[in-house]
Amino acid sequence: MPKELKFHKFIKPYVVDAGEGFRLKDHDPGDIHGLKSQDKPEATKWLEQGVVQLSALQDILFAQGNWGLLLIFQAMDAAGKDGTIKHVMSGVNPQGVNVYSFKAPSAEELAHTFMWRSMGSIPPRGKIAIFNRSYYEEVLVVRVHPEFLDRQHIPESLRGKHLWRDRYEDINSFERYLARNGIAVRKFFLNISKKEQKKRFMERLEDADKNWKFSQSDLQERKFWDDYQDAYEKMIRNTATEHAPWIVVPADNKWFSRLLVVATVVDALHSMDLKFPKLDDAQYAALKVARKQLEKE
Ligand code: ATP
Ligand code: MG
Repeated sequence: MPKELKFHKFIKPYVVDAGEGFRLKDHDPGDIHGLKSQDKPEATKWLEQGVVQLSALQDILFAQGNWGLLLIFQAMDAAGKDGTIKHVMSGVNPQGVNVYSFKAPSAEELAHTFMWRSMGSIPPRGKIAIFNRSYYEEVLVVRVHPEFLDRQHIPESLRGKHLWRDRYEDINSFERYLARNGIAVRKFFLNISKKEQKKRFMERLEDADKNWKFSQSDLQERKFWDDYQDAYEKMIRNTATEHAPWIVVPADNKWFSRLLVVATVVDALHSMDLKFPKLDDAQYAALKVARKQLEKE
């Protein structure tokens, strides 16, 4: 089987490109695609091969300068966003990638419309941008904690019950605009179970090298687990589209989630007609002249 197809088939069960009827409970955070935990060393090799391919494709993406790629990561705390981003990017040329982390908005950001702060970080042609959290927080944490909305200075008459639906629509339109302009969008929801999150929080408390990762506020947010799951489900239902699919990544096993993410990025790059730029006759003739000049030295 050609390797493009292999990647495509491997990721297929996790790609949601039509949100209607989506239910989170149909997706098991412990799923490892029929592999076994003994397959972990083998999977680690595939991950390395994936990273090598990603690197080769990124070189062409950069040289060609036609397409761009936006990768969005959303998840509950301790689901492994940071580690996944680190692995995915381990083989790529840092000049072609930018990573942006979106935290709670500043006063200036709160005075603007909800997508404003993301606009300047959309990748140009030839580059990959990674969003560690994103404008999707605006239908997640802001939906779970409506007091965040109170700080957004939205006119009272626009704060009706259609607000969330309007935001989904605006996000969909924005992502369609990007796709139509050659900036591909892939969105990853790292789907961790409540049990695994507890285990990882415990590790952060017990392991001295992980203590720095623990945050009291993460424990606070855990209390809203069900509300978040509900918000994630609604988000995916309303914003999973063909032009900007969600990938629901089973995240209880880090080795598996990293493999799936790398495979998805490779698949996204395969879907573009990436080619090194070809020179025209005049440019080719100029190369010949340059070669002669160098030879004469
Ligand atoms: P992370 O939790 O992503 O690993 P971190 O621990 O370094 O990163 P935090 O200070 O926890 O950083 O920042 C992320 C926090 O910012 C999250 O709780 C997130 O919900 C919040 N946040 C991000 N975007 C928004 C937004 N638009 N509105 C409100 N809160 C937001
Ligand atoms: Mg945090």
